[in-house]
Amino acid sequence: MDNIDLRSDTVTQPTPAMREAMARAIVGDDVYGEDPTVNALQERLAADLGFEAGLWCATGTQANLVGMMAHCQRGDEYIVGMDAHTYKYEGGGAAVLGSVQPQPIPQAADGSLPLESVEQAIKPVDPHFARTRLVCLENTWMGRTLAPDYPAAMRALCDRHGLALHLDGARLFNAAIASGLPARKLVEPFDSVSVCLSKGLGAPAGSVLLGSRALIEAARRWRKVVGGGLRQAGILAAAGMHALDHHVEQLADDHARAKLLADSLGDLPGLTVNAQHTNMVFIDVPAPRLAALKQAIADAGIRMSIGYTPSIRMVIHRDIADAGIDRTIETLRTFGAAA
Ligand SMILES: *Cc1c(COP(=O)(O)O)cnc(C)c1O
Repeated sequence: MDNIDLRSDTVTQPTPAMREAMARAIVGDDVYGEDPTVNALQERLAADLGFEAGLWCATGTQANLVGMMAHCQRGDEYIVGMDAHTYKYEGGGAAVLGSVQPQPIPQAADGSLPLESVEQAIKPVDPHFARTRLVCLENTWMGRTLAPDYPAAMRALCDRHGLALHLDGARLFNAAIASGLPARKLVEPFDSVSVCLSKGLGAPAGSVLLGSRALIEAARRWRKVVGGGLRQAGILAAAGMHALDHHVEQLADDHARAKLLADSLGDLPGLTVNAQHTNMVFIDVPAPRLAALKQAIADAGIRMSIGYTPSIRMVIHRDIADAGIDRTIETLRTFGAAA
């Protein structure tokens, strides 16, 4: 029985064609800026998304970290959602490694930071306070897309207060596909953006940070400092390039399968669909039945993300075909109906 791994879209395997592209990649030493494949990927994403420059990083966590460290000095602060990746799921890196203090605030249901809350969180210029320097947003957040006009409103607020604006765009292309807007349009209000190639796009590793030439040069320095200066990284950048060429449009299939899964689970006494957005489905079961759910999905060879978010999370990705969705629906319907 095939394993159906719905824990994350990070579990996607490189395809044979991707592996071939990796094997063929022309490479050089990227610490010297001499890897042509890395350079091509950085330049391509910068041009596509409307930024001056890009920086390939090993992970999204690293791209966000070096971006925040490039924006902020020691003793500065960034305003961020309490459930945002850059605050909650990156080991506190900005504080631990960057001496940058987070100011977390509660997010609205769509992941946005209410403008009034951000305004209230900005500190006066006074030695008592950290210097507010940056706002970090996330799109998609828990699969949800930000409202299309919201980032521009945040941009205006940041301009009024002299703050920079960063987007954790780990799943930016999911947001673009779901909203029908070009990715370039979604990132227009931001000073910097990080984009993951290793999620639904299916590369084995790699994220790219985009920004001004000056910001990217500062981030490049921090990337070396945190141990992220890879040498012949073009082997991995080639996978990212292949993903951009061949896997972006297919994200729509993941979204359609996630919707089918959510729609097929309605009206069960022992299971509630909490939400479905882009490639994610969130479900709840009564706490006393959690152990039974874990057993039922284990017996069916299905894995889900349980315990990291308030609801149980299923993430649909390119290695989940219709048969996997069918088996998941069948397993959960049997479980939910048995309550
Ligand atoms: C996955 C992810 C990242 C980066 O994660 P890495 O595992 O370090 O590549 C950043 N932000 C969000 C929202 C993510 O989902």
